[in-house]
Amino acid sequence: MDLIQTAETLRERLERASKVAFVPTMGNLHEGHLSLMKIGKRHADCVVASIFVNRLQFGPNEDFDRYPRTFESDCAKLERESVDVLFAPHEHDMYPTPQVYRVQPPPVGDELDGAFRPGFFNGVCTVVLKLFNLVQPDYAVFGKKDRQQLKLVRGMVQQFNLPIQIVPGETVRSDDGLALSSRNNYLTPIERTEAPRLYRTLRLIADSIAEGRTDYANLEAAGRADLARHGWRVDYIAVRNGIGLRIPHPEGFDHPNLLIVLGAATLGSTRLIDNVDVIKKDGED
Ligand code: AMP
Repeated sequence: MDLIQTAETLRERLERASKVAFVPTMGNLHEGHLSLMKIGKRHADCVVASIFVNRLQFGPNEDFDRYPRTFESDCAKLERESVDVLFAPHEHDMYPTPQVYRVQPPPVGDELDGAFRPGFFNGVCTVVLKLFNLVQPDYAVFGKKDRQQLKLVRGMVQQFNLPIQIVPGETVRSDDGLALSSRNNYLTPIERTEAPRLYRTLRLIADSIAEGRTDYANLEAAGRADLARHGWRVDYIAVRNGIGLRIPHPEGFDHPNLLIVLGAATLGSTRLIDNVDVIKKDGED
């Protein structure tokens, strides 16, 4: 694997590749990230991973400074996945001057996670666009774990006519259902046993909808109440139409196949997010 830190070296290295698949990450890699590398391998002869903890997407009271950085072990994991290039730029190369030109996401970027993390998707889309311009991939692989991010990146690629195919990857979970996440490292042992409740809550709502319930607001409220009873601070539990993430019609006109259930909640000091399809659809988003 070639470890590359500058745009010039990256450009020279990628001249040799015929098809490039790109997997952007913030490091602290786990099996979820590695599943995306495997998907990349199936699409292209050259897989480029990036590790860059993007200050732009962290709020002033968020965990930028304590975000887990495990560069050495990340490199070993990427080598084992036969990743071809690791692009790990320095912050002063990514942002040599303050980033005043930004990607402004559409209003849905201010809903769900965007409502609780102001500016988050502006920061995400901006760094993803910069990375796309640096790597110029044919394919870019994003996890369904961050469903709103996947939607917004897809929209950005369409509206800015970027010649990149976005490929979604299924969420990788522990046996107890907890979605793998770098932030799981923050959980205490007791919190770790409680953490899968977020997934179970979303799954329960999704299964109720699959069985015919259309009283989405009641289902959301019951899910929120159950989590709160077990000590969570809930940001949102929301049923949305997977296309465009709009609120489903209250009369139940949306086909359940298209619905997804998303949630974000904090346990102790750790904020977790997750989402599930009402009816499981492998490989789609
Ligand atoms: P991050 O390092 O958190 O920015 O994530 C980098 C990429 O990995 C994003 O596309 C995420 O959606 C994806 N990802 C994170 N966790 C998982 C998971 N448990 N399963 C699949 N993909 C994931």
